[in-house]
Amino acid sequence: MEDSHLNRIVVHVDLDAFYVQVEVQRDESLRGKPAGVMQYNPFGDLRTIKPEEPRIFNDSNGSLIAVGYEARAAGVKRNMRGDEARKHCPEMQLVQVPTSHGKADLTIYRNSGLKVVNILSRTSICERASIDECYIDITAEAQRRLAACAGQALLPVSPHQVHVCGQEDGAEGWWNRPAEDWGSGERLLACGAAAVADLRAAVFAELGYTCSAGVAHNKILAKLASGMHKPMQQTVVPAAATASLLHDLPIPKLRQLGGKFGEEIMSSLKINTVGELAQTPISKLEALFGDADAAWLHQLALGCDTDEVKQRTLPKSLSCGKTFRGASALHTFDAVHHWLGHLGLELEERIDTDRAANARLPQLLTVSMWHAVAGKTGDWKGAGNASRSCPLRRPQAATIAMDALALVRRWTAGPSWLAFHHTLPGCVQLCCCSHRRLHPHQVPEATAAQQQQASLQPPLQCLAAQQYFSAGRATP
Ligand SMILES: [Mg+2]
Repeated sequence: MEDSHLNRIVVHVDLDAFYVQVEVQRDESLRGKPAGVMQYNPFGDLRTIKPEEPRIFNDSNGSLIAVGYEARAAGVKRNMRGDEARKHCPEMQLVQVPTSHGKADLTIYRNSGLKVVNILSRTSICERASIDECYIDITAEAQRRLAACAGQALLPVSPHQVHVCGQEDGAEGWWNRPAEDWGSGERLLACGAAAVADLRAAVFAELGYTCSAGVAHNKILAKLASGMHKPMQQTVVPAAATASLLHDLPIPKLRQLGGKFGEEIMSSLKINTVGELAQTPISKLEALFGDADAAWLHQLALGCDTDEVKQRTLPKSLSCGKTFRGASALHTFDAVHHWLGHLGLELEERIDTDRAANARLPQLLTVSMWHAVAGKTGDWKGAGNASRSCPLRRPQAATIAMDALALVRRWTAGPSWLAFHHTLPGCVQLCCCSHRRLHPHQVPEATAAQQQQASLQPPLQCLAAQQYFSAGRATP
């Protein structure tokens, strides 16, 4: 890795079994017990179950979307059904996600994740990656600490929670090396690791949530490391450990190569590991993938990634979706319209809350669909997906549903559409993005619930918005 890549400290923070942690905090009777959060039963009754209503259904056969560590120790895994989980762990506590609009309602987890982000943002640039994960750039704080400690980086508190890649005997040996053994960027990395340990401790002290982290010089390595030691631990990746870390790593485990592109690389080069990719001559990569992708892939295989952490504590888009499996598959436009209406209602509520809290309004509406693909003879050939977008005319459920339906209809009228009855969506998702800043007079008075939501917003964002308006750049 070039020296210029070593002066950035990037961290991937992943909350441990987060949905379960949120539920345990809401219901102390769950603490210490094997517990899991399960999806609602899509074939059963679809009544709304609010977060505060009883949601423990221990005889349910729902599918697990999060499994606590006590249950994992008993052999329960994610995606298991209730029946199977009980076989491994008869005392398993099964909490169902709240539901509204005929689908899972993740608001309590989303809001709790935002509180964590607010703490992490205190000493870092924070980019939210999902409800329970984010990337942070902690370079400035690491530099400050490095200057303050006169080059003598201290082992973070709770050394048993800190690991260094390639140091099987523990982190102490790495931290306590003689001065001449420290490589370029390693002291900054050590100071970054200490800052992350403090942030994790603050999250635990203030919110009671535990999280794990990967501390490295870039996003791909940080993401790889955060899952190495869990829960409530962190793993540091010194540049010197990169090659051995990546050598036997299956290609799909790299952040950007988990999808079709990763598969294409493996099949066309007949290789499986990142180490093999690193050894592939660049000329061969260029012949297959073009110059730009080849250069990027080569760097990636060496563990180099220049993707920056962008300050983003607010989600880029608001989206919600619903899957229709097997017998619940949609067969008519009326059915599609019905569900678009439900999704539209959820979006309308979330747009309203977001508008009051963050003075912004999305401008683009996208509908995405997973659907069956029929062959020339009308037989089942596989699954595909399609997305269509239009301007978001009004942030209201009825308009959203009407416009989304028009997009679906237009799509089905196109040449790619075959055998209509076989190909209506198995999954529909609505998404709003491309937010426009609102002038204060365009922001409605917040309701009590929205005010509570707004109090979760990071001060940094509020400041940014104020500066934005005082600079007079806002266009109503
Ligand atoms: Mg997690």
